[in-house]
Amino acid sequence: MICLGCSCLCNDIECETEGEEIKVRNACLRGFRRIDSINENRLTPRVEGKEENIDDTIKSASKLLEEAKNPIIFGPENSTLETEKEAIELAKKVGAIIDNMSSFGYSGYLVEKIFRKEVDTCTLDETRDNCDVSIYWGCDPMSSHPRMMSKYSYYPRGKNRQRGWEQDRDAICIDVRRSLTAEICDKFIKVPPGRDFELMEAFKDVLSGKIPKFGDKKSIMKIGNLIKKAEYGVLFTDIGLNYSIDHIDDFIDLVKDTGFKLQPIIESIGLNKLLFEETGHVNKINYKDKSYGIENSFVEALKEDIDTALIIGSDVASNIPLKLAKRLREINCIYIGPHGNLTSYISKVNIPTAICGVESAGKAYRMDLKEEELETIVDSNFLPDHEILKRIGDAL
Ligand code: SF4
Repeated sequence: MICLGCSCLCNDIECETEGEEIKVRNACLRGFRRIDSINENRLTPRVEGKEENIDDTIKSASKLLEEAKNPIIFGPENSTLETEKEAIELAKKVGAIIDNMSSFGYSGYLVEKIFRKEVDTCTLDETRDNCDVSIYWGCDPMSSHPRMMSKYSYYPRGKNRQRGWEQDRDAICIDVRRSLTAEICDKFIKVPPGRDFELMEAFKDVLSGKIPKFGDKKSIMKIGNLIKKAEYGVLFTDIGLNYSIDHIDDFIDLVKDTGFKLQPIIESIGLNKLLFEETGHVNKINYKDKSYGIENSFVEALKEDIDTALIIGSDVASNIPLKLAKRLREINCIYIGPHGNLTSYISKVNIPTAICGVESAGKAYRMDLKEEELETIVDSNFLPDHEILKRIGDAL
């Protein structure tokens, strides 16, 4: 089976059901817990805290969206292409803003650059077969995407990297702290918070044959020269970059100068791709007037006059400042997802769903846009999230 625990979408997971018990092999702890905990903390259908049947919660959600003056749809996370398509259709129907986690940092911006072919990227399979130098800048895949380095970027033998990490690959971690990823990389640069720009300048100096002016010059020159000599370099990045780099275009220029491929470690890239194909942008779209802009990001919109939010499978309340989480609690918030969390707790309507890839099937994209087919592993009475979205749309 395919694991939808993160955007690695590992396709070598073995699952066996014996009565109530599900035996899982090959998954990391995160993937294992996603399957093993299917009966824990399941969401119940509720309106204003009162338990209702599923049809009534769908009707309530539909009514709130119909009456909304300024609705927003956020998510989906760990879900399928079918759900992402339905979310866009619903946004069109009610004239809502649609956005996802990619607007919380630079990942959406970087993905858009990749879609526009302004930056080189590669697939994870190409990384496994060819990569000799990988950089992890502002990301910690060992924690967030636990099998990525073992399956693709560092540990595996690849077609053209038969001697694996011991002789054929170098891994460089750049972060403000010694993360789990830093622990296993053979090179680590600890950058003081907010000073990544100076490190970038130092690398640019080394690339153009100058002595760097920042940090431990000897080790920066050593790593800079390793980057310079890389035959097939891949740079992975994630949300950590947001807090350390003000000028993302300078970062992109550096990536281009090195000749490295860029791979943002991003979840739910399917929604970004669908939106890009339709609007030319990957997130922050307002279907009321088809506008695109920072004012349509979830965080900015919540500060303004949003009156209704439909959140799909994302515990977004845990990822925003308390003030905004309180605002989410004040407006009409509808939560659709398999498990209870802070977002469901502060929502006026809760609609439980099946767990995608375990209790319902569909298609999903890996972070490098490889399409995978998800199967149903266990039967369930919960509806898939795309079906719930469709029913909300039909009831409008
Ligand atoms: S790395 Fe991600 S996709 Fe792979 S088993 Fe772990 S959680 Fe699942």
